Amino acid sequence: MQDVEFVVVGCGPAGGTAAREAARAGVETVVLERDPIVGTKRVCAAGLRAGFCAMFDLPLSIVHCNPPTISLRGLSGKRFDFPIGTAHTTTREELDGTIAALARQEGAEITTSALFRGYERDGERTIVEFADLQNGERRKLRARSVLLAQGSSARLETQPLAYENWSAGLITCYQYRVYLDAAAIEDTYHVLEMHYYLTGAGRNVIAWMFPKRDHLSIGLGVAGKMSGKELRAELDAFLPTVAARLFPGVGYTVREEGNLLYGGAPRPCISDGNVMVAGTAAGLVDATTGEGIHEAAMSGRVAAAAVAGAHHGRHANPGTQYERTLKSMFYGRLRHRHKLMTILERKPKRFDVLFEQLARAPRFAAMLQRDRNDFSLAEWAYLYAQAALFSVRALRV
Ligand SMILES: Cc1cc2nc3c(=O)[nH]c(=O)nc-3n(C[C@H](O)[C@H](O)[C@H](O)COP(=O)(O)OP(=O)(O)OC[C@H]3O[C@@H](n4cnc5c(N)ncnc54)[C@H](O)[C@@H]3O)c2cc1C
Repeated sequence: MQDVEFVVVGCGPAGGTAAREAARAGVETVVLERDPIVGTKRVCAAGLRAGFCAMFDLPLSIVHCNPPTISLRGLSGKRFDFPIGTAHTTTREELDGTIAALARQEGAEITTSALFRGYERDGERTIVEFADLQNGERRKLRARSVLLAQGSSARLETQPLAYENWSAGLITCYQYRVYLDAAAIEDTYHVLEMHYYLTGAGRNVIAWMFPKRDHLSIGLGVAGKMSGKELRAELDAFLPTVAARLFPGVGYTVREEGNLLYGGAPRPCISDGNVMVAGTAAGLVDATTGEGIHEAAMSGRVAAAAVAGAHHGRHANPGTQYERTLKSMFYGRLRHRHKLMTILERKPKRFDVLFEQLARAPRFAAMLQRDRNDFSLAEWAYLYAQAALFSVRALRV
């Protein structure tokens, strides 16, 4: 059995960033990725928050568009625009592929067609078992630290990582890559559109239109399980509404994609000794927007720092270090977002109430885009006042 210092499972933004930064810090790192080519099978609208490429030292060549505005629509269909700095759009083959290439340059070994099966304790170390899908063999690695970053398909059923509410947080998504025969209207390439409405059967839908260099990502997600056929029918009803506004009369072809998103509360426990959980597998997704790439990459960064700290003898337990840092960074905001989404979805007319309030209070709208660990006391007071105001208005609906 091969001994390795750090094994990373999954080469999405969480795993790829962890591998890149751990290898850069001198940690021997092996990534196990299920897919034969990193990123090609990821279904995602791939919107990146402003400053993402600079924050993670990624080339701007992966950026397709720089939309400065997010446009929100609730049940009324009324449009509410909010500035979001210079956000980026890209594709996951470019994002994940680029991070993986940079991780390799730093010395990380990325093994593709490697399906993680499980782990078990071996004293201070952890044995990771995986299937080598190319050769049809079961193989094992013994690692000092392990990062699990398999995304929404992560099945972590052993204690203490198991989370009984995990399945309830899953959202079924369907997306079209819409390739147009001619350009859409100019406005299309300057906004990220998010729509919140109900299916005919009364189920909550989040839908989006994100512009790309050569196509538009138009898709939707519905909480819980929904058959591919029903989802496609919903998307086929949504697409013409976008087409009529943004590319009337322009011919197009579509490529269909489906995937699971996670929209529940973050996983309560994300470390088990030297085993850590990152990104969507840790439940680090903003339930109101589906944004999780930033949280994934940041959790990979924090894991790499914790593993590098253990490598250089600064502490003995990377898992404890990792969990403490990550919870202080993200859990406050993500738990509140999940709670907010539950309140909104219970009475979907509340989406318009919230958007109207955000439009009237741009400072509130700007604060919601930040993490809470850097708020001043005055900002906290302002946030609570706005939250109280929203509660009163929402109760009237
Ligand atoms: C339709 C859709 C649209 C979205 N749009 C956005 C958006 O615009 N902006 C945004 O910020 N977020 C968006 N998200 C969320 C975003 O995709 C996730 O938050 C992000 O991908 C999480 O990164 P990750 O590295 O944790 O996991 P993933 O990106 O899911 O990567 C997991 C990796 O692990 C691999 N893997 C899985 N199981 C195994 C296994 N058993 N063995 C080995 N490898 C395995 C997978 O092949 C994959 O490469 C969207 C999600 C969906 C579904």
